[in-house]
Amino acid sequence: MIAPAEQPLALLAVDHLLSDEEHEIARTVRRFVDNEIKPNVADWWEEGTFPKEMGKQFGALGLLGMHLTGYGCAGTNAVSYGLACMELEAGDSGARSFVSVQGSLAMFAIHHWGSEEQKCRWLPEMAAGELIGCFGLTEADFGSNPAGMRTRARRDGSDWLLDGTKMWITNGSIADVAVVWANTDEGLRGFLVPTDTPGFSAPKLARKLSLRASVTSELVLDRVRLPAEAVLPGASSLRGPLSCLDEARFGIVFGALGAARDCLETAIAYARERQVFDRPVAGFQLTQEKLVDMALELQKGFLLALHLGRLKDAGELRPQQVSLGKLNNVREAIAIARTCRTILAANGITLEYPVMRHANNLESVLTYEGTSEVHTLVIGKALTGVDAFG
Ligand SMILES: Cc1cc2nc3c(=O)[nH]c(=O)nc-3n(C[C@H](O)[C@H](O)[C@H](O)COP(=O)(O)OP(=O)(O)OC[C@H]3O[C@@H](n4cnc5c(N)ncnc54)[C@H](O)[C@@H]3O)c2cc1C
Repeated sequence: MIAPAEQPLALLAVDHLLSDEEHEIARTVRRFVDNEIKPNVADWWEEGTFPKEMGKQFGALGLLGMHLTGYGCAGTNAVSYGLACMELEAGDSGARSFVSVQGSLAMFAIHHWGSEEQKCRWLPEMAAGELIGCFGLTEADFGSNPAGMRTRARRDGSDWLLDGTKMWITNGSIADVAVVWANTDEGLRGFLVPTDTPGFSAPKLARKLSLRASVTSELVLDRVRLPAEAVLPGASSLRGPLSCLDEARFGIVFGALGAARDCLETAIAYARERQVFDRPVAGFQLTQEKLVDMALELQKGFLLALHLGRLKDAGELRPQQVSLGKLNNVREAIAIARTCRTILAANGITLEYPVMRHANNLESVLTYEGTSEVHTLVIGKALTGVDAFG
């Protein structure tokens, strides 16, 4: 007779560190993910798609731009936003990416750098999930170093003309508005491009082996003509897009742990059931050591995420601290996903279980929003004062 198992995050009673409201938000999102995402996500992943209609459901739950205030946004604290990201990514990194790109990249760019008119025009419908946004910074030859981008905007009378190509853009093909960053004679500027503007197209990228339940696209801008009101008035340097990326990275610090937690819960349940040599796989010391080490890393990662969340809510979070969180938690989440896969052995390589899907997704999470190498260099510079980028 096997005794009941404790949930990995319950072991350290980290719940005590959350307010009632934070608990309630996490519980609500977890229920939604259990009912609406987990039963369907393997099919979406196999088909290489993410349904745009999910946007309205995310909007109804208040998840889109949830830590922004006004304009129909929920206005929660940062920890609540982080917890929502964790629960969403327990479903799939694609679901969390959808919400991150909409809220932290596209909506944040408008909320932080946009005019009052732009905020009123776009944010309420984006918060409701009726309009979907994407964020075009990366180009095929300029990922880690976006300053070198070739996309250009030049003035033509009172209008702007945009030319260039963006690559690896989440939600690009299903977006209603694209936030596109371009070099101009007046510095790096952000443009709000309705996706039905002539000259704009967003072909979907195919044959991905990671983050398949997420639409990733190229953005092609061929003499896209925009009125003067399309430019974000507040941003005129790389600080504009980088401020948005800091927001989205913060969500990843929590989010990656959701994928890891789902893998670990799956592996524990599997190890308790699966009989090998006439005993449960959980009964081997080698398995227990794996499970214990993973539970430790998950709990340490959660404490780190929560600490960063509290700093953010106090207005004291610095970019190098977000780098610490992203570097550690994504690295540990991938290690957990891969180790869980070994416990499920052959069954672990199928879509019947979530672990290989999570492990593959986390490869993208390791790369986007700043690669692990780039975050290492950010932290190295903070520690030594010496810039090792060049
Ligand atoms: C699924 C997915 C979704 C994405 N969604 C978006 C999106 O919505 N919007 C968007 O704008 N972008 C998006 N991206 C792009 C992502 O941000 C870039 O892929 C990322 O910034 C890395 O750029 P790169 O792939 O060109 O790698 P590269 O910059 O070519 O890097 C190659 C390697 O060199 C290393 N490297 C780079 N510079 C240094 C250095 N100075 N020192 C040491 N090593 C270095 C990198 O760490 C990496 O290992 C997405 C990517 C993926 C995979």
